[in-house]
This record gives sequence, structure tokens and C-alpha cells, in this order.
Amino acid sequence: MNDNKEKHSISQLRQDLVTGDWVVIATGRGKRPHAFSGNPSTVKEPKENCPFESFAEEGPFVPLLREGSVTVIPNKFPAFASGVCKVFSKEGPYTFADGVGFHEVFVLKDHDRYIPDLETEEVKDLVRAYRERYNSIAKQECIAYVSVFHNHGREAGASLAHPHSQLIAIPIIPADVERSVAGSARYFKEHGKCAHCEMLAHELAARSRIIAENEKFVAFVPFASRIAFEVRIFPKAHQHGFGMLKDEDISFVADMLKQSLAKLRVGLNDPAYNFFIHTAPVGSADAYEHYHWHIEILPRTSTWAGFELGTSIEISAIAPEDAAEFLRGTETSK
Ligand SMILES: [Zn+2]
Ligand SMILES: [Zn+2]
Repeated sequence: MNDNKEKHSISQLRQDLVTGDWVVIATGRGKRPHAFSGNPSTVKEPKENCPFESFAEEGPFVPLLREGSVTVIPNKFPAFASGVCKVFSKEGPYTFADGVGFHEVFVLKDHDRYIPDLETEEVKDLVRAYRERYNSIAKQECIAYVSVFHNHGREAGASLAHPHSQLIAIPIIPADVERSVAGSARYFKEHGKCAHCEMLAHELAARSRIIAENEKFVAFVPFASRIAFEVRIFPKAHQHGFGMLKDEDISFVADMLKQSLAKLRVGLNDPAYNFFIHTAPVGSADAYEHYHWHIEILPRTSTWAGFELGTSIEISAIAPEDAAEFLRGTETSK
């Protein structure tokens, strides 16, 4: 195992335990962690132009939920909206269907306080709002997958400066999720165990890739990190669906999310990032019991070019162990 701590003169191919995806760790150029930080990504926009400042008083937004400091509203320009589900049509050899689903926005209270700035209590509001809306939408007809995600910074696709998360629910299972689910099902069949639990047990023993941990959740840089400084947050106890998150565990997820994002912000000079929840598809628990939900945080530290786009194999210029060591040692103020 310690082989992976050594500097390699040639690159190393690493395979993800669940998806089977390969990545390339090419540390030959000797890039130091600080070399990954760029200009701060936080978009500064005056409050006066912000559509989230006035929605409380005026339409067209009617809140779907108020959870402490977080307000959930329907997306004004939804990528998916209500309609008749699963009507597949044909154009020649092609198949298409209406984009039936839901698209909601979780608006944080303040225009310029981001997740690392929030009190843990406020991050708990956000996680609780995610769970409430997740469970409510998962019950709706024709929903196969509910994606909860957050974009920070323009390079990560955040079109508005005001911090907000989103939920998109769709009538199909995305290929990426399907592959993960199939990978964990295969592992379960072969070993009689959850692949993610196996991974966690190894990470908690090896400790070289862990960046932070509390009693119930752990944040680490994955062995086959797809992007430099990728971070994943897992519940330590096996749980297949995000909707099953218990009240008493919310503060532990909130703490890990806040700490991980604060470390990225301080360590890498406020990079743009996306995070999302990967969870089992909506449906019978029996079919997905082998899955283990988690949060993936992907900072925008590099741009995908021809090789990456052509092969989906990212060339990472820092070893996950070095990225983890750097983030582990990054002190945050709160
Ligand atoms: Zn605002
Ligand atoms: Zn598990």
C-alpha cells in the first residue's frame, strides 16, 4: 500500500472500485498543491440585481418549503417540468421523450455568505431541506432519479452569485448512476459486501486519503480521484438512499460538508466547484440495498481537453494522497 506514497517517475493507472473507471495519476511534473489555486471564483454581483432578494415578497416564486434559513422555490426556467411521463417517441432510429420532471432551487438566506461562512445550524437547514424535498419528489409518479447539486463560481456553471443549490428529478436513471449502481451490485454479488463499506474500512485504516472525519461521516480524496482534489463524503454506517438520512445524523453531514468546502476555499484560493449527492435511484429498497449514498465535491482545478473528453480518463497531476495531506493540514477559521 505504501507504494502509493512514493513519487512515481512514470504515471500510474488507478481503477475505481465501484465504477471500474480508470484515471491516470501523472505526478512527473512535480506540481505542488498550491499550483492548483487560481483566481478566486466567487462571482461578485450587486445585491440590487439579484432575483433572490425580493422573491419572498413578490411573485412569481411561491416557496415550496422554508427550512430555517433556506427557502426552496421552483426554478423559473426549469430544465424539466410537469407533463405526461414516459411517452417515448421516434424520429427515424432515434428515441426521444418529453423532459418530464421537477426542477427546484434552494436559496440560502444571504447574498454573499457561502457554505463555509454559514453556522453549522444553517448548513443543517440546507441538508434538511435537501432531504425533505428529496423525499417529497421521490414519491411522485414517473421519477426515476433525484439529483441534488450545488454549483459555486462561474466556471462551475453558477449563473447567479447568490448561493443556491438545485434539485432536478428526471424520469430516467442517468448512465453514470446506472454504472455505479451496477458496479456496486456486481461487487455485492461477488463478495457479499457493500463495495463502499469496504472502501471506507480501508480508508479509515490507511488514513492517507482522509481529510476530515467526525463520529458518523468521513471526507476523503478517493483512491482513483477523477479530478485533482476531488472529495467524497460518506456516512460511515451503511445506508443506500439519501432520503433515509436520520434527523440525528444531519449535523454530522453538515459539519463534514462545511469543513470540506472551507478547506478547499482556504487551501486552493476559493476554486469554483460542483458538489452533488449520489444516491440509489428511486424505487424498491431491495433492488438497491447494495448501494451507499455519498456526496462528491469536484473543484474546477483543470479543464478537460481532447484526451479527457475522448476517453473520460482524467490525467491528474497530483497524487490523491498528496492532495489529501494538503487539505488535511489546511486550517479553516471556523
Ligand atoms: Zn442575492
Ligand atoms: Zn455500504
